[in-house]
Amino acid sequence: MGATTVVFVNVGQGDATVIKSGSWTGLIDGGPPGSEAAIEAALARLGVRRLSAIVVSHMHLDHTGGLTHIVSEWRPRAAYLAGTPTSALAGALRGAATTLVQARRGATLQFGSARAQVLSPVGLSGDANSDSLVLRLGVGGKSFLFTGDCTGPNEAAVGSICARGPPIDVLKVAHHGSRYSTSAAFLVDTRPRVAVICVGPNPYGHPTPATIRRLLVSGSRVYTTWKNGSVTFRVSAAGAMSVSCSRSSQTVKKATAAGGGGGGGVATGVAAGAASSKASGGTIVYITKTGACYHVDGCRYLSSSRIRIALKDARGKYRPCSVCDPPR
Ligand SMILES: [Zn+2]
Ligand SMILES: [Zn+2]
Repeated sequence: MGATTVVFVNVGQGDATVIKSGSWTGLIDGGPPGSEAAIEAALARLGVRRLSAIVVSHMHLDHTGGLTHIVSEWRPRAAYLAGTPTSALAGALRGAATTLVQARRGATLQFGSARAQVLSPVGLSGDANSDSLVLRLGVGGKSFLFTGDCTGPNEAAVGSICARGPPIDVLKVAHHGSRYSTSAAFLVDTRPRVAVICVGPNPYGHPTPATIRRLLVSGSRVYTTWKNGSVTFRVSAAGAMSVSCSRSSQTVKKATAAGGGGGGGVATGVAAGAASSKASGGTIVYITKTGACYHVDGCRYLSSSRIRIALKDARGKYRPCSVCDPPR
């Protein structure tokens, strides 16, 4: 077998991961809108001319934003999904004559010389994050766990499958380091040696210090695309793994309240984001006339009748939306 390369592309707040194994190349998720250039640059750096397949973990815009363009331009042969593509993406997939495969637990996908087992979901609950397509990629005796934004009972189920196997070498941390994923029990089950958080400037407080702390306590090395830029792993034919970063190669050392990045870009970015959202005298969130939850700007559960409200007034009266994970 040849070498395999896995690149967690720095696309800001969202996921995009390129896997190249011999002449086979796949893309897991396509970042937020505007990620096309970063993804294509990563493909060009690897000398990729054809995209064999895409994997869409779930249909949230921070994972699908760049995919319509990528599918139209690169015409992947197959797309592995759990859920129904948005109409724009469905149109692009049809135009590219891509074969759609609904992947469920128990399936095994051949990615060049690497093999990906589908660990979740079993079925669809309707909650896109928990229904995330979760893959364990085995290559040269090393394992990568790609979790999308998986959370809750599905995350626990993935953990118990991994608990029966060897430690995970590289964990793509679920949901950008949100506090609702990557539980302590999940980390006991998966025993990740290295963790990568795909995250950029955002109003949700990702990655949360609590999640960073859990990862560090578990003994994992922690990279974030925010601080480290794109993070690339190479597994040689003999199974030796190396890592390189497009920016700093320093791992996160402690969970700081300023975003948990352990300094550098993370602390600065979160401070800047907090400052701008507080410019008008307090953090602003949004509610609707009838809903019981409050949201961040841009959440898909906000109707056009959204109402601005100070976070301090929303607290207690409304619940934080579980989809957009607004500040508490
Ligand atoms: Zn999501
Ligand atoms: Zn996401």
